[in-house]
Amino acid sequence: MPESSVPNDPSLMEKIVNLSKRRGFVFPSAEIYGGFRSTYDYGPIGVQLLRNVKDAWWRAMVQMRDDVVGIDAAILSPPAIWEASGHLENFTDPLVDCRQCRERFREDQLVDPTTCPNCGGTGTFTEARQFNLMFKTHAGPVESDAAVAYLRPETAQGMFVNFSNVLQTSRKKPPFGIAQIGKSFRNEITPRNFIFRSREFEQMEMEYFIHPDADWLACHEEWLRWCQDWLQSIGLPASHLSLHEHPKEKLAFYSRRTVDIMFRYPFGVQELWGIAARSDYDLKQHQQHSGVPQVYFDEATKQKVVPHVIEPAVGVDRILLAILCAGYAEEDVTDDKGNVEKRTVLRLSPRIAPVKVAVLPLLKNKEALVARARELHAKLKRNYAVFYDEGGAIGRRYRRQDEIGTPWCVTIDFETIEKDGTFTLRERDSMQQRRLTEAELFQLLAEQVY
Ligand SMILES: [Zn+2]
Repeated sequence: MPESSVPNDPSLMEKIVNLSKRRGFVFPSAEIYGGFRSTYDYGPIGVQLLRNVKDAWWRAMVQMRDDVVGIDAAILSPPAIWEASGHLENFTDPLVDCRQCRERFREDQLVDPTTCPNCGGTGTFTEARQFNLMFKTHAGPVESDAAVAYLRPETAQGMFVNFSNVLQTSRKKPPFGIAQIGKSFRNEITPRNFIFRSREFEQMEMEYFIHPDADWLACHEEWLRWCQDWLQSIGLPASHLSLHEHPKEKLAFYSRRTVDIMFRYPFGVQELWGIAARSDYDLKQHQQHSGVPQVYFDEATKQKVVPHVIEPAVGVDRILLAILCAGYAEEDVTDDKGNVEKRTVLRLSPRIAPVKVAVLPLLKNKEALVARARELHAKLKRNYAVFYDEGGAIGRRYRRQDEIGTPWCVTIDFETIEKDGTFTLRERDSMQQRRLTEAELFQLLAEQVY
């Protein structure tokens, strides 16, 4: 992947937000009603990208590994889970109000703890109070305390509370992992940076259970490497990635080590993927609160043991934003007549690109060209996300595909039907064109899209 945009380019985020709207990646939610703050809807192209990212992760994490299985747990959950996990008590942010303008802030995010960034008032903040980030609701028709339920703030607890179920049904034994992709909800005081931090988001988490005496540090390092390799396998450049080791004094008491993989976003270097060594805290908490043993039988020692856990946890939306930021580029290109124009291009890996191939008949009023293009399109779409487009000048059609990151365009022209059946293949990044046969096209796709 070539180095793309300048780091910390404040206009880049604006360009990405605009492109997202214009090309159907991400729309502001409830827009016809004026929008709903910090929620977003994925459009036709965005949902395909999102799906490809999740599929690539699931394939690498579950399908390709013999030691990881998947689950899909409920989003609605009883307070008992969050009591045991500690979220009811501790999943809070310190909240302050400005008495002058009534704006609310996270105290730990204020650059200057005495001056309001909204109205400039000094000494106008209230005392900080702890604000729980979980969304609370009621299950059933009665809004009583007994009916309280929560939208999960993380998917991880779904793996912990199903540990015994999975152990019994999958016939796995530690070391093994349980993976899940799903929505989580956090009532962030200050959501920000487009889809980077929003109240409704999607996570990809995996809990890897190991024997208490296992070399947890080696296991942690291994997962740290795995996650970095995977990010690069979907096209995120190593130059944008870095590591942040959480200082010991800032770790939760049960945590042995946490390292974040950081990504260089246009608004700064921010957390992308957290890899945590969580000891046996979660299972022991559930064992104590539920009264149900959370153990497995270790053949070597003939003992029942509570395993320890290594947890890689990442947000899908953050990955998607990273992909857009790293892939976005603007270039000057010269056309046949020597005119220089700007082109916007998303350099996405063919593995995750929403559309793999665009099939374009050179002219839409030539029946033979259109018929051959439609035939090829029908054949390709059995296996790949492809797009058929016959509207407008060929150059404009290429540009539209460049903006959504389509790696290849195939043009059906007169040579195709009058000579040897070959098509023009136009490559997104180099814009170079060459001729190839249908068999060669399928070969190219089989090699690059998996
Ligand atoms: Zn204020």
